[in-house]
Parts: sequence; structure tokens; C-alpha cells
Amino acid sequence: MTDKYAVIGNPIAHSKSPQIHKLFAQQTGQDISYEAILVPLDGFAVTIERLRNEGYKGCNVTVPFKFEAFKIASNYGLEVMDAVESGHEADAVNTLLLKDNKIGGYNTDGTGLVNDIEKNFKIPLKGKRILLIGAGGAAAGVLHPLLEASQSPLVIYNRTLEKAEGLIKKVTQHEKFRLVSIKPVEFGKFGSEQFDIVINATSAGLTDSELPLPPTIFAPDSLAYDMMYGRETPFMKFAREHGAAIVTDGLGMLVEQAAESFYIWRGVRPDTKPVISALRAAK
Ligand code: NDP
Repeated sequence: MTDKYAVIGNPIAHSKSPQIHKLFAQQTGQDISYEAILVPLDGFAVTIERLRNEGYKGCNVTVPFKFEAFKIASNYGLEVMDAVESGHEADAVNTLLLKDNKIGGYNTDGTGLVNDIEKNFKIPLKGKRILLIGAGGAAAGVLHPLLEASQSPLVIYNRTLEKAEGLIKKVTQHEKFRLVSIKPVEFGKFGSEQFDIVINATSAGLTDSELPLPPTIFAPDSLAYDMMYGRETPFMKFAREHGAAIVTDGLGMLVEQAAESFYIWRGVRPDTKPVISALRAAK
């Protein structure tokens, strides 16, 4: 019997997840269906209940429901898996596993980002100087896996300083990161520091807004990574013009986080490379 999955959010029409999971299913021979469902802003809990009643096995959750998804999964008893640790850190999950009477909640965004950088771009994060721009849901979701992989000091640069401070306070409560130096910097307050990896986790690209970055921010051989995908953002243009060696959007992260969700649901790891290539070719 075909197992049913979905991505739920608002808005949802732009989502590439159905396309990605269909390609994963074809490649691995898994018998699944995967659809996009638009959920009213006050209709998340009702929709999850409906999916459970209709026998769905899981779903991806996107804006603005990732925090609500975490709460629902917590109430039903979170499954304990490695992936969930980052969910706890961020209080937000993007993957729900619907199984018997339980709901497992996982955040695969961070693993997706780390896998894209380390596996696809072949850049080891260990020891790298990382600048994370943004302190919203996406930044919160990737912080823990990034620190785990880099084991080195990191700077969070955000328009609202208190949000960066809040993220840092939370992650440094974790035993593993108590001694790691994570510094918040307010917009416009940078000195002459340089970074090996600069990650834009803000949504500034959505409105084509420029970020106040010093032109000297990119170290030689640095990677500039915008989590947004679909078009060249002002951040990507700035990085190309100011010395970043590699500039990329977040399409690889999107496919990698989807692969982690697929693995959680199906126990099978799809090959992400042909899927990333297919999506890039379709642009
Ligand atoms: P949130 O709304 O939770 O956070 C938005 C962040 O962007 C905040 O740090 C906010 O700063 C900052 N910001 C918004 N507008 C501006 C601006 N004009 N100038 C400077 N900073 C700004 O969004 P998310 O964290 O959920 O998403 C962020 C981005 O990441 C989106 O583009 C999303 O598409 C992308 N994403 C990509 C994924 C992938 O797989 N590739 C996965 C998840 C997200 P402040 O705190 O001051 O408000």
C-alpha cells in the first residue's frame, strides 16, 4: 500500500518538497505519495489530527508552523533520536513522524546545511571561522549542528541584537558548548574580522534587502552561503564582488534536509546529488 506524506505550511505553493520526495521515491523504489497542503494560520493542530486519522505516516512542516510542530510533538512524546537534539535547541521542528499514537519531531535543517557544505562542497567545517547572519528559526535550527561540526568560535550577526544573544544563551546552556566562544554582533558594528564561512540565515533576500557587511569580511578561499534559494540575492552578489571564493544559494541544503526527513521516515538514504542537479537544471 502507498504510504502518504505531505509538506504543510502557509504559503506552500512555492515548495519544491513534493518534487524532491518524488525523485527520492523513484530512485529508492519506495512506495510513497507526497503532496503540498496549504494550512490556515489557525489550523495547524486540526490538520495534524486529520493527517493522523487519514493514515499519513509523516509530514514536513514549513513557515510559520515549525514552532507549533515542536509543541505538538512534545505533547505526544518526542522520539529520542540524534536529529531531535537540534529540534530541542531551536524549539522548532521541520519533520514529523506519525506512528501509532506517537508523534516524533525532528529538525533536519542543520544536518542539511552541514551535509551540503561538507559533502557537496567538500569543505570540512572543523576549525573554520564561521559568521552566521540572522537569529530567526533557520539560524536557531542550524546553530547546534554547525557548532558540533566546527568545534570553533562563531559569530552571530543580527539586526536585533537581543535575538542573537537569546540564541547564544540557549545553546551555551548545553554542556557541549559551554566553553565555545559564540559572540553576538549588532548590525553595523563589525571591525576588520574575516571569516572562512559566511552563512546568510536571514530572510532579507526575500525583499532584495542588502545586509550591512564590511567589504573585507570574506577570507581568501571563503564560502558565502545564502540559505534562500531560487534566485541570486543581494548577499550573493555582494559576496561575488568582495572576494568570496565560492558563492551558493540554499538549494543543496533544501535537498539534504529532505533526504534526512526521508531517512527518518523510510530508513533509506537517497542519493542527493542527482536530485540537486535535476532541480538546478529545471530552474
Ligand atoms: P525568520 O522569520 O524566523 O527569521 C528572519 C531573520 O531574518 C531574522 O534574523 C531577521 O532579523 C532577519 N531579517 C529579516 N528581514 C531582514 C532585513 N531586511 N534585513 C536584515 N535582516 C532581516 O525566518 P527563518 O529563519 O525561518 O528563514 C530565514 C531564511 O532561511 C528564509 O529565506 C528561508 O527561506 C531560508 N531557509 C532555507 C532553508 C533551506 O533548506 N534552504 C531551510 C529554512 C529556511 P530580526 O531578528 O532583526 O527580525
